[in-house]
Amino acid sequence: MDKRFDGIKKFENRVWLASPTMHGDELKWINSAIEANWVSTLGENINEVERITSEITGRKYAVGLSSGTAALHLAIRLAGERVYGPKPANVGTLQGQKVFCSDMTFDATVNPVAYEGGEAVFIDSEYDSWNMSPEALEKAFEIFPDVKIIVVAYLYGTPGKISEIREIADRHGAIIVEDAAESFGATYNGIQTGKFGDYSIISFNGNKIITGSAGGLFLTDSEFDCHKVRKLSTQAREDAQWYQHEELGYNYRMSNIVAGIVRGQLPYLDEHIALKKKVYERYREGLKDLPVTMNPIPQNTEPNYWLSCLLIDREAMCEQVRSERKALYKTEPGKSCPTEIFETLAAFNADARPIWKPMHMQPIYRNNSFVTIEGILRGRSNAYIDEGNAVDISMDIFDRGLCLPSDIKMTEQEQDVVIDIIHRCFN
Ligand SMILES: *Cc1c(COP(=O)(O)O)cnc(C)c1O
Repeated sequence: MDKRFDGIKKFENRVWLASPTMHGDELKWINSAIEANWVSTLGENINEVERITSEITGRKYAVGLSSGTAALHLAIRLAGERVYGPKPANVGTLQGQKVFCSDMTFDATVNPVAYEGGEAVFIDSEYDSWNMSPEALEKAFEIFPDVKIIVVAYLYGTPGKISEIREIADRHGAIIVEDAAESFGATYNGIQTGKFGDYSIISFNGNKIITGSAGGLFLTDSEFDCHKVRKLSTQAREDAQWYQHEELGYNYRMSNIVAGIVRGQLPYLDEHIALKKKVYERYREGLKDLPVTMNPIPQNTEPNYWLSCLLIDREAMCEQVRSERKALYKTEPGKSCPTEIFETLAAFNADARPIWKPMHMQPIYRNNSFVTIEGILRGRSNAYIDEGNAVDISMDIFDRGLCLPSDIKMTEQEQDVVIDIIHRCFN
């Protein structure tokens, strides 16, 4: 380790990006499920999780599922069926169809489009929210006017410009799948995320703001869709004595044990958000003298502050090169880069994470279109800055951004050391 970091001690216990925070009630509900012998995919815990989450999000129906990815798959399958009609079991409901998708996100957002045989067209991000750019979406409809489904994700607990996106969708007769996996409890114009999609989803994965160790939710206002998702998630059994099947089903239902954990966590949603917000504000205050900004909080939104992230001013970026698997950088006084901060924090036993690598830069999606406000961007590379302006905003944020340790069990002293380490990276 170089001299810039003299005197800093390695964290004894790892400082996590976002780890589960249990409160004790979880065990109570797991035990009650075991005592009642309701340990499968039926039971009071599931019923209560569905009741409480539909109340929190303001949706008529919530369906507990095994993961956020499963919820996305069923949401996208239903969207495909609604727009293009049912298909035989061996043909995906999106066969040959294009779907507009957030570009900078976890691949779980967009993979279900491929599960259903469709082709994701990636829409560039915007600086205001780091989510889907409404302008780029508008451009995408100019190029592909027949697209009828939009999958929009909210990063790090911050809502995107969903009113603008809804207006554009309505004008083009398209429906919206809302991936609120990371933003449970966040609001846009005072309304909970998870309320805006024709189909919406939330995740209870181990590092999300509320966790069931795993699990996800499908949200809708349609009784028909709610029943359909219940049916598809339990192998699509028809009403008969034997296992009778008329359509393709899945084993995607939430277990009553997992639901017990979620049920124990739900009363702590507001507390978790308040603690996450404190972490964010301490970073904002502690880093304000550096050439960095925090992940944005757009007007009219109240994020859940799931992850705190920084974005380094372009002038303050040291040289950094990323290949498909590796990253290198060159230390420069007064400058730093996500790779340097990531590797330095790791050396002190703290957990950072690069921004979601944009989907249009993922080898698996190398043949899919990527639309920016200027149109389809061809010739993808790291050379995405043209005369000082980024033409590929997703890649610009990936290049300059980093998710910081945002665990709500991180102490103030630990966070002070993290902030100190980041400062020294710029020395
Ligand atoms: C976590 C996450 C998912 C997937 O949820 P799982 O419960 O892990 O399957 C989907 N989309 C986004 C944006 C996520 O962060």
